[in-house]
Amino acid sequence: MDAPAVEARGVEKWYGPMPAVRGIEFALGGGEFLTIFGPNGAGKSTLLRMLCGAVRPTRGTVRIAGDDVRGEEEGWRRKIGLLSHQTFLYPGLSAAENLDFYARLYSLPDRKARVAEALRGVGLLDRAADRVRTLSRGMQQRLALARTLLHDPEVVFLDEPYTGLDPHASAMLRAVLDRLKDGRRTVVLVTHNLSQGLEQADRVAVQVGGRWVSDERRGQIDPARWERDYTERVAAAV
Ligand code: ADP
Repeated sequence: MDAPAVEARGVEKWYGPMPAVRGIEFALGGGEFLTIFGPNGAGKSTLLRMLCGAVRPTRGTVRIAGDDVRGEEEGWRRKIGLLSHQTFLYPGLSAAENLDFYARLYSLPDRKARVAEALRGVGLLDRAADRVRTLSRGMQQRLALARTLLHDPEVVFLDEPYTGLDPHASAMLRAVLDRLKDGRRTVVLVTHNLSQGLEQADRVAVQVGGRWVSDERRGQIDPARWERDYTERVAAAV
């Protein structure tokens, strides 16, 4: 049997005496879409950064497709893409130059065509030559999404991707996420947007005070009722 696409065992992060993430335990199969909800400060971003190998857990183990992210083997890095609060874009370079830079970093073939395709995918082909600093916040977010997906990662981590997007851009992001649900790719989405987060998920977790207070299959959830009860459940868990 294949190793899980993402696996967390007893994952914790402490900042001094303060726990940010506690006892996270789950495995996601290839093709699964997990949404994590939770209030500000629940440790969702910290968890995502640990899943990507960007932050070292105080305790526990993270594996991507079987590889320990703290191990010597670094092949897992090419398998993941992260969209975080930081865009990791160079403001003085154009949209196309930014993507080309990442395409070189990943030694991707057919760079020019690939960059154009990625820009088209997020509706920015006509802004290819514009410097990032001249793009709106929402456009920069879309470009960051294109960068995240450029190397066609098997596992995609998205931290609040809807933040700063207008309704048109949100709809575009939703379409991109729908395309990611191809049965092969694994997605971990952190969002405050209950309806959008529920719509695409196969699995739904709620994180409060660093812990998962629920972890459910989407099929077991009645979305309207779940959304109504969410605030109460979070308040009860704090
Ligand atoms: P969320 O993404 O759910 O809003 P975060 O993961 O950003 O939560 O933060 C969880 C907790 O960890 C917060 O109390 C935050 O202040 C703390 N924290 C996050 N990063 C650091 C850090 N680098 N140093 C100290 N505390 C941190």
